[in-house]
Amino acid sequence: MRIGIDLGGTKIEGIVLRNDGEIIHKLRVPTRGEYYEVILDDLAALIQSLQARLKDHLSVGIGTPGCLSTNGEMKNCNAIELNGKRLLEDIEIKLGYEVRIENDANCFALSEACYGAAQNARSVFGVIVGTGCGGGIVIDKKLVTGPNSISGEWGHNCMPANARAMISGDRECYCGRINCIETLLSGRGLSMSYFDATGEQLSAVEIAERAEKGFKPAQACLEIYADQLAHCLATVINMIDPEVIVLGGGLSNIASLYKRVPALLRPHVFNDQVHTRIVPPTFGDASGAIGAACLWEH
Ligand SMILES: [Zn+2]
Repeated sequence: MRIGIDLGGTKIEGIVLRNDGEIIHKLRVPTRGEYYEVILDDLAALIQSLQARLKDHLSVGIGTPGCLSTNGEMKNCNAIELNGKRLLEDIEIKLGYEVRIENDANCFALSEACYGAAQNARSVFGVIVGTGCGGGIVIDKKLVTGPNSISGEWGHNCMPANARAMISGDRECYCGRINCIETLLSGRGLSMSYFDATGEQLSAVEIAERAEKGFKPAQACLEIYADQLAHCLATVINMIDPEVIVLGGGLSNIASLYKRVPALLRPHVFNDQVHTRIVPPTFGDASGAIGAACLWEH
């Protein structure tokens, strides 16, 4: 058994995961995000109360927004007071033992590769298409990590030129670059594309609902979105050739993507056939905590 924690912008969720993938305890508290010290105390208290329910001491993994930089400080965390803080060091001091920390998109990929939609695959790309576009690469149920802590972070690659031809003008990204994949494939990106085409401001969820009901402009917009996603995933397939790509995040709920994206991939992949499967996630909200528990092998 292992403990997995999902430290998010609205909640801190902790689970005890059995080696067969069953969750046997679950605790959740709201994230009181204004002060780092409060988050740290809440986090430590939650872990200690999970440990207290068990006979043995368990390994602990924590999934967070952003990631731990090589200088020991957290970076790229949105909506939560962690940036610049030495979270790993501080929580280890509080608990008195070693823990592991990973980015939440990496935890998502790991959860699906170990116990979810991609559990029979050797190579997996887990990709979040939601508020942002993160990703993680898992090979043989192990996360691929590198010296820059950014493996799988495809969202801030520039979108391929042929996908860029489908938008009306350059899109500025908060990271300072233009035309990042995230400016196109995030929920906001889809909304912008719909606005460009129709002059109407709708959320990604509303666009998907209208397409479901047979509303033509929404269907046309989703078809373009599927094509853009196919272009961008093809670059991943050409690089790491994963057996399975699992979609996560809010836009992974759009059922038509699992039919259209595979059909649109082939022309953009440098091969005459594409065997990579694109599948919906098994875990919704729970993927962060499950993936965090998987940071320690069983
Ligand atoms: Zn960017």
